[in-house]
Amino acid sequence: MVLVTDRMKRSFAVLLCIAILSGLFSFLGRKPVKAVSRDFLSYSPTQDEIDDAKRQRDEAKRKAEEASEMVSELKEKKGELSGELAELQGLSDEQMAQYEQISEDYAAALMAKEEALDEYIDSQENLIHKREEYAERIGIMFAYENKSTLEILLDSESLAGFFTNLELISLIGEADLQMIDQLTIAMDDAELKSNYALKEAEDMQAIAEQKQEELAELRRRIGVTEEALEETSTKLSRWEEEESAFQDEADRLDDEIRRLQQEKDEEERRKASLTATAAAQAAQSTSSSSSSSSSSSSSSSSSSSSSSSSSSSSSSSSSSSSSSSSVSMHMTWPYPGDYTVYSPFGMRYHPIYHYDKMHWGVDLGGEYGNPIVAAADGTVIKVEEPVEGQNTGSINYGNYCVIDHGNGIATTYAHCRDVYVSVGDYVVAGQTIAECGSTGTSTSPHLHFEVRVNGEKVDPVPYIS
Ligand SMILES: [Zn+2]
Repeated sequence: MVLVTDRMKRSFAVLLCIAILSGLFSFLGRKPVKAVSRDFLSYSPTQDEIDDAKRQRDEAKRKAEEASEMVSELKEKKGELSGELAELQGLSDEQMAQYEQISEDYAAALMAKEEALDEYIDSQENLIHKREEYAERIGIMFAYENKSTLEILLDSESLAGFFTNLELISLIGEADLQMIDQLTIAMDDAELKSNYALKEAEDMQAIAEQKQEELAELRRRIGVTEEALEETSTKLSRWEEEESAFQDEADRLDDEIRRLQQEKDEEERRKASLTATAAAQAAQSTSSSSSSSSSSSSSSSSSSSSSSSSSSSSSSSSSSSSSSSSVSMHMTWPYPGDYTVYSPFGMRYHPIYHYDKMHWGVDLGGEYGNPIVAAADGTVIKVEEPVEGQNTGSINYGNYCVIDHGNGIATTYAHCRDVYVSVGDYVVAGQTIAECGSTGTSTSPHLHFEVRVNGEKVDPVPYIS
């Protein structure tokens, strides 16, 4: 019985083993270990490739940030450019908007590249992770792969250990199935994303490069515009300073000419009265004598010239109101040979400043050294020649002279290269008194010619036409 029982026990164990083995074989039959080859481990990007992708992504990110900063800088700059220079600013605004748009496109392309690379890196890292997980398990599977169930049984320290091992193998098998699924998904994902994302990153890089070129081109053009803007605004502010200084000087000259005319008139009146007294005395003393015809004729010629000027000065007070509205004197054109008015008297609309400026004379002629002639007979009452023949820049009129013609009328000849007459000189119409130049605040040679009636600046054209 005992023997039978032992035999039965043994045969039961064998039967059990067979049952287990058959189960195990069926399990091993569907065991996926064989399906996983070692190639699986060698597939996937190398760590270097992923590191490279990471570097590219970080670079794209950095550049995108830079581009975004550039866009906000541009927005600030656009605000700074607002000012009085509306026309030039308009041009620049357009370019700025273009620049900003391209910069935004550039930043967007870089950000898209960064995102694409991010996805690629994520998928690759996931794949690596899954592969490592699998490699770990598969290592265990390989440990059992070439062993028979009997060997596993004999390896087991006990029957309990044998079942534990079987259970483990079974569990690993189940996990492997899931893991293979996951790994396959990860591989597909990685493959899909690596193809798509790398292509996308490449496309975005191409766009970014193109935008970068466009920016460089535009920067060159905008650079020029900015320089031009700066230069123009400098010129304009200088022009404005000069113009207002000229204005001040023209106004000061009004008073000065009035004063000089008064002084001259007083002097002439004084001379006239002296001459009249002398003439009266002479007439008294020589009333009996008849041999003073020569002296009386000389004195009468001087008294007639002075009396005519004194009568004109006396009439100037009465005709002052009428002379400003009607032309009381015909003058000679002061710049012989060129009868064009290059800049007329009156309001001048400044194309860039957009406001009116008064021009108190006419601009004539324009050749260095050409003669300037007296517009009418008269006496030189002022000569200003800071540095003969040179543009000193200190006085707006440059070298100039003023002639008093009587009747409260005076003419001014400005920007001369040289003035030939002196204060007190009597000149006649058409007499050369100066030569054309560009002294004072003048950019090219011309004659700035002014007419004043009782110290008020008037349009010279009706007088000289
Ligand atoms: Zn002028």
